[in-house]
Amino acid sequence: MTLPPYPAAAFPDERTAIVTGAASERGIGRAIARRLAHEGWAVAVVDLDADASRQVAEDIARSTGAVVAGYAADIADAEAASRMVRAVRDELPQLVGLVNNAGVSSPVPFLEVSREEWNRVVDINLNGTFHVTQAAARIMAEHRVGRIVNISSASAERGGGVYGRAAYSASKAALLGLARTLARELGPYGITANSVSPGSIDTDIMGGRLTDERKLELLRELPVGRIGTVDDVAVVVAFLLREEAGYITGVTYDVNGGSHIA
Ligand code: NAD
Repeated sequence: MTLPPYPAAAFPDERTAIVTGAASERGIGRAIARRLAHEGWAVAVVDLDADASRQVAEDIARSTGAVVAGYAADIADAEAASRMVRAVRDELPQLVGLVNNAGVSSPVPFLEVSREEWNRVVDINLNGTFHVTQAAARIMAEHRVGRIVNISSASAERGGGVYGRAAYSASKAALLGLARTLARELGPYGITANSVSPGSIDTDIMGGRLTDERKLELLRELPVGRIGTVDDVAVVVAFLLREEAGYITGVTYDVNGGSHIA
């Protein structure tokens, strides 16, 4: 029997994090990419559209002075996902961080959901995360150091969110199981894997801005008395990607203002 390849390597001075779904103008991914750049990471901004990714990367690079590059990939496409990861490996500093943030929601009730809609959501949220993570984790394992964070959702834990229904909730719950398994399997390679489950954050994923009426409804369920922001999520993700967070793995961090207290 061979012993696992402990211990973990130290963080290199120059290191890269991939953030998927990071080009959305008011999105969580963009806030995560910006915060990581502020904290000294080189960042790969990944999204569907090449121009949008490039533009966001330039914007963050300009405001932070960090190395930030944009990449286009539909993560549901396994080949496109691994091509993107290879490009990041070849063009940016050592890959240490991965934030699986890209995702789509689906408000269709279970009794009405078609197989096409179900597969669309699972292909992006779950299979897409698998594609990017396997390609990235193989590189991290070679270097014996890595940080993986899956962006799940309060919807996964409370049985549907305020917007997303069964396909969304099931795909996001699968990400929790995936992160826990990765924590066990990849721990010996110096890689941690955790999940962050946001509650309602005011982005465009629920079909546009929250109306004032909707905000009031949400506030009734929120002990902290305000709606969550993208930075509320980004700060926790950035913490989990730090070298000092290496003893935290297989954990789910709820960032929901107390809307769901387990
Ligand atoms: P958003 O719609 O603003 O951003 C999602 C991004 O993912 C978009 O830029 C989109 O282009 C990208 N994307 C979608 N499909 C893709 C694909 N196949 N390949 C590559 N990129 C793809 O939404 P957001 O609110 O910023 O959501 C970010 C993450 O946070 C999602 O995973 C979402 O499920 C999760 N989340 C959001 C909330 C919320 O209330 N906003 C709550 C819980 C969890």
